[in-house]
Amino acid sequence: MDWLGQMLNLPAEFLYSSGGKGGGVIQYTADDSVLVAIIAARDRAIREHPHLTPGHTLDKLVAYTSQEAHSCIKKAAQLALVRIRSLPGDENFALRGATLAAAIEEDKSKGLIPCFLGASVGTTSTVAIDNLCELGPICEREKMWMHIDGAYAGSAAICPEFRHLINGVEYSMSFCINPHKWLHVNKSCSALWVKDRELVTKSFSVEPEYLKNHHLQGDVKMPDYRNMTVQLSRPFTSLKVWFVLRMYGVQGLQERIRKDVALAKEFEALVRQDDRFEIIAEVNLGVVCFKLKGNNDLNEALVKRINGDRRIYLTPSTSKGVFFLRFVVAVYNTESKDVMYAWNIIQEQADSLLMSHVNGTE
Ligand SMILES: *Cc1c(COP(=O)(O)O)cnc(C)c1O
Repeated sequence: MDWLGQMLNLPAEFLYSSGGKGGGVIQYTADDSVLVAIIAARDRAIREHPHLTPGHTLDKLVAYTSQEAHSCIKKAAQLALVRIRSLPGDENFALRGATLAAAIEEDKSKGLIPCFLGASVGTTSTVAIDNLCELGPICEREKMWMHIDGAYAGSAAICPEFRHLINGVEYSMSFCINPHKWLHVNKSCSALWVKDRELVTKSFSVEPEYLKNHHLQGDVKMPDYRNMTVQLSRPFTSLKVWFVLRMYGVQGLQERIRKDVALAKEFEALVRQDDRFEIIAEVNLGVVCFKLKGNNDLNEALVKRINGDRRIYLTPSTSKGVFFLRFVVAVYNTESKDVMYAWNIIQEQADSLLMSHVNGTE
């Protein structure tokens, strides 16, 4: 976890080697990572209100996320019994400080206790990056736990030119990337760093006699990972990460990310040359969000044709009520010719769809 953290140039306080309170643990998925984070945040908030019963505090807690955030944040709040509000993003689908601050004020005036923000570096639909440098100081001031879900896009920060995407990570209490997404580790591997391990272990540890051992209780205190996860026994996931690091090296992984981003830019340029289409979100990394100029029905019909054709598969999405198509470069052996192949199919399907509209056959 320290090696991965160093690759991302994370602040030292997230690393074991700093000798401080922070450190990381491998979870199965980003859903697990945010669940661990919100439970720790919830329990901290409960401890900080000793004059109320835990149930009473729980009843007042409120968490926030963006309307664009992955469903895992809502699911975690649901499991932790914390109410959650989804706030609108700006024109780039990013959550901004002023929006969060207004929601907090409104909720505090109702007697609620804000305790958690699930921020995203790279949302699933459009790879939007929430404004961490605005959100972070607000969370610090309000003693809220900021968790950053960087499941996909966070890995790009191993490239110096993309490190700025996680600027503001220093404000977070927990941060997650999925090496199983963009660092070529097989499923499952989600890396979660926390600034204060004790805030997690307070919620997750149980000490039955049969699990005690001198490595954990003796002078040399090893981190006890089972007290930072839902599951007890663990697969040797770090071995998979080790193999990937040995095989590709940091440079090899950087090159792969750069290649994917460059191929996405190639696709973006192709779309921009065809004025029947439009790009609907800034292309930050390896995902291009685009659509035919026209309404949702037209674009739903297009994606149905493309996927029905079965040569390529696109996952569509909706943001702010607009339905669009997503072209995702993520497989290690994708090349320019694959991008061109896909674009030709998309154009071919668009031609026949628009033709059928002209002829009134669809
Ligand atoms: C893919 C993704 C997830 C879900 O990841 P799992 O590891 O399958 O839970 C969560 N958040 C974001 C931003 C994602 O891109």
